[in-house]
Amino acid sequence: MRAMKAGLTFRLATAALAVAAVLAGCSTNPITGRSQLIGLVSEGEAVQGSTKAYQQMMADLDKKQKLEKSGEKDSPRTQKIQQITDRLIAQAIKFRPNSASWRWEVRVIDDPKTVNAFCMAGGKMAIYTGMWEQLKATDDELAQVMGHEISHALLDHTRERMSVARASDVGVQILAAAAGVGNLGGQLMQNAAVVAIGLPNSRESEAEADAVGIQLAAHAGYDPHAAVTLWDKMSKLADGGRMEFLSTHPSPENRAAKLKEFGAKLEPAYQAAKTNPPVAQRYVNLPVVRVGGSNERVVEPPLGANERIVRPAPTSSN
Ligand SMILES: [Zn+2]
Repeated sequence: MRAMKAGLTFRLATAALAVAAVLAGCSTNPITGRSQLIGLVSEGEAVQGSTKAYQQMMADLDKKQKLEKSGEKDSPRTQKIQQITDRLIAQAIKFRPNSASWRWEVRVIDDPKTVNAFCMAGGKMAIYTGMWEQLKATDDELAQVMGHEISHALLDHTRERMSVARASDVGVQILAAAAGVGNLGGQLMQNAAVVAIGLPNSRESEAEADAVGIQLAAHAGYDPHAAVTLWDKMSKLADGGRMEFLSTHPSPENRAAKLKEFGAKLEPAYQAAKTNPPVAQRYVNLPVVRVGGSNERVVEPPLGANERIVRPAPTSSN
C-alpha cells in the first residue's frame, strides 16, 4: 500500500514537472503573434537536431539508392527543385532575415508511390518523386508545396512540433538528468526532429503556412492559382495512393476559398515577378568546406566561376 502510494506520488510529481515544463515552454511567435510551445527546444537545438536527423536520413536513403543524384551531376528533378527552392529562399530571407544563415539543402527522394515533402528547422528539405509521378505537379504547384513547407520552418512550426515531441518525453528526461544518465540531449533532439516531421500540424499552423507560402511563391514568380489546384489534386488523390502529405498537413477551414482570396491579392506581385524575374542565386546545396582535423570547422563555400552569393538586405522592396 505504502509502495503503491509512493509510486503514485512519484508519478504525480513527474506529471506536474512535465506540465510545468510545458507551460514554461510557451512563447509568442514574433511573426504571427500566436502563443506556441517552442521553448522546450532552443533554435540552436532545433537546427542542430534537424541537421543530424536529415544527414542520417539522407545517408540511409543513399545506401538504399533511393536518392536522386545531387552534386557533381544533378538529376533533372534535382535541378528543377533547386531552381524553385532557390527562388523561394530569396523571398524567405526577406520574410525572416536570420534564415540567411541557414545551410539550406534540398534532395529528391526516389519513391514514386509517396506524395510528400518537408522542410525541417534550419532549411533541410526533401521532396518525394510521388509529387511528380502520382500528383503530376506542375512547377507552379511544386513551388506552392515547397513554399508551404519552407513557411512551416520560418514560422517555427517545426520547432513547435519538436517541442511537442520532447514534451511527451520530458518527465523521462528530467528523471534521466537527475539520475545522472549523462548527456542525452543531442540524440533526443535528433529523435525529436524525426518525430516532428511525422506529427500532424495543427489547422492553425496550416492556415499560417498557406498564407505565407503562397506569398513567397507569388513574389518568386509562381502562379498563386496553383495553390488551389495543388490542394484540389491532393484531395482527389487522397482515396488512392500513399498521401503522407495530407496526414501531416490537415485542411484548415475554407482552405480553397482563403487561397483564392490570397491569390487575387497577390496577382500584381506575381505578374511583376514574372515580367521582371528576380536574379537567381544559389542558396541550396552549397558545398561545405571543412578545415582542420579534429577541430574541424565549417567555412563559407568558395565562390565558383559562375556563382555569386549575395545576401539580400533584410528590408528589400516587394
Ligand atoms: Zn502544412
